[in-house]
Amino acid sequence: MTAFRSGFAAVVGRPNVGKSTLVNTMVGTKVTITSPRPNTTRSQVRGVINRPDAQVVLVDTPGLHKPRTALGQRMNESATSSLDDVDAVVALVEATGAVGPGDRMVLTQSAHRVRSLRRAIRGTGPGPAEPDRDAEPDRDAHPDREAQPTLLVVVNKIDRVGGDGILTHLTAVSAVIGSIDEEAGGEPTPVEYFPVSALSGQGVPALVDALVDRMPDGPRYYPEGMVTDLAEASWVADLVREELLHRVQDELPHSIACRVTEWEWPRVRCEILVERDSQKGIVIGRDGSTLKEVGTAVRSQMPPGAYLELFVRVEKRWQQRDDALDRLGL
Ligand code: GDP
Ligand code: MG
Repeated sequence: MTAFRSGFAAVVGRPNVGKSTLVNTMVGTKVTITSPRPNTTRSQVRGVINRPDAQVVLVDTPGLHKPRTALGQRMNESATSSLDDVDAVVALVEATGAVGPGDRMVLTQSAHRVRSLRRAIRGTGPGPAEPDRDAEPDRDAHPDREAQPTLLVVVNKIDRVGGDGILTHLTAVSAVIGSIDEEAGGEPTPVEYFPVSALSGQGVPALVDALVDRMPDGPRYYPEGMVTDLAEASWVADLVREELLHRVQDELPHSIACRVTEWEWPRVRCEILVERDSQKGIVIGRDGSTLKEVGTAVRSQMPPGAYLELFVRVEKRWQQRDDALDRLGL
């Protein structure tokens, strides 16, 4: 009998490279929200790839970026800590445009992580700190870790460039990794490259296969039918936020937060926080039209029979305030 493989993989990359889209495509179900605007994903959301022979838990992280607010700071912390205890790191860059400083930072951290994971497995150096996995399935009971951690570099959005463009980009990325390795002064980081289109799915099966190969022997951490461990409530709050973002002007997205305040199926109450009175008007829309459209769109994605109530509340400067962030669970 062949062994069952399982483990955790971080999906990292600067904002807007397509992390959420890729997670959705790999899992095959919509589990995290995507948006053309950066920083839509505010906290770690997991998707789970289930196969007869393996299970891979994906951590979809907010993009690493320079924090400007208390919210930004927390997003960065959560993105960085997701690298602490994983079996593989999937780092995304875009095939369009140059490999920028943001990409370099992501690649540097990812390469560093992979190198220390390998050291920990060989037991020849300081390993990662003992994982703190409260409320996580117990994985210490399965310490077999024969797979060798590798950095999987995904060059995404290949549908937007030609074959030559892909090649040029792969060369550029590997040069950057080469210089990162030189700076680290040790052995080269083991890297595999995957040109993909998260949007069309091209190249994604090969990536999933490679990811499964990288997983150690382990149990099925989550029941097979489960693709995400996000509470249904925050899933609905994310849907409300996503539908709103499709309908409001550019200056609003970062001022909006949503949370479900009551869940008594089929009645679900979701609060939409904005920072100013003027924004409240925009969210509600003329004669309540925007809010009504959002409600209809979200309900159509929920199980039948849902009764969704949306409320808009002004909470000044919520992004700057720790108490507000705590209540939002951010
Ligand atoms: P994230 O911030 O890294 O999670 O990025 P998202 O997954 O939210 O994607 C950002 C934007 O890029 C969205 O508009 C996606 O539709 C788009 N996008 C993601 N993957 C691809 C791709 O493979 N091809 C193209 N053309 N667009 C993509
Ligand atoms: Mg995202």
